[in-house]
Amino acid sequence: MTGRGLRAELVAVSQELHRRGWVANHDGNLTARLTADRFVATPTATSKRRIDERNLIEVDGAGKLLGGTGKPFGELGLHLAIYQRRDDVGAVVHAHPPYATALAVSGSQLLERPFIAEAVVSLGPRVPTVPFALPGAAAREALVPFVADHDAVLIANHGALAWGADLEQAYLRLELVEHLARIATLAQATGGPAYLPDSALGPLLEARSKAGLGKAADRAATAGPRAVVACAPAPHSDVPTIAPGRPSSDRARVAALIREEIMKVLGDRR
Ligand SMILES: [Zn+2]
Repeated sequence: MTGRGLRAELVAVSQELHRRGWVANHDGNLTARLTADRFVATPTATSKRRIDERNLIEVDGAGKLLGGTGKPFGELGLHLAIYQRRDDVGAVVHAHPPYATALAVSGSQLLERPFIAEAVVSLGPRVPTVPFALPGAAAREALVPFVADHDAVLIANHGALAWGADLEQAYLRLELVEHLARIATLAQATGGPAYLPDSALGPLLEARSKAGLGKAADRAATAGPRAVVACAPAPHSDVPTIAPGRPSSDRARVAALIREEIMKVLGDRR
């Protein structure tokens, strides 16, 4: 796609994020790769509703402003960390879609295991949550371990981030994360999602790799489903797990549970 076509698409996707209610105020940011070390980006402090081709900016891989009158957004480092590590990535989209963000702020693990087969092919077996970190270098470091093996993440106490070969793919991945988060949330009313059996993962990951969906898809197929499942926590566990980004409250829950058990034992002896 030409630079001009890319800029027009970036404007369209920006406005779509606003139209769908996935951003408020100045939330959200988008970038697309123009050349190996040149990116077109939304400017900071601008509603996604007001993005047009005149206010887009251009930056290099170090975040230096190369063109445009606006300023780079604060989370640009997250986008650049992905481009640096994934030469197959051509676009990154970040927003705060309500269902995905609700899971991200509650430390929910609903998307840690797969419950819809098609989503495994499109997105992989899980959408992990990047632990909370302060904006800037700490947030970038928190994201880095997830970049090679995933194409979308939740960010604890923040929102969702997706990347892909082009803007359309990155946007569709973000849309799918929000859709899965919505389904998982609705399924809670009837006992929560029933997860796919581990035996289904191998063929689905193979199909994902064969579909040519990028390096994360290729890596998952090579590593095998066992490696993927091994790193995801067990669903519906009776023992509270330490949720990403919420260590203190979860520790408090665990402590309360232990206290309750001790009181029960003491009560039996009285
Ligand atoms: Zn954000």
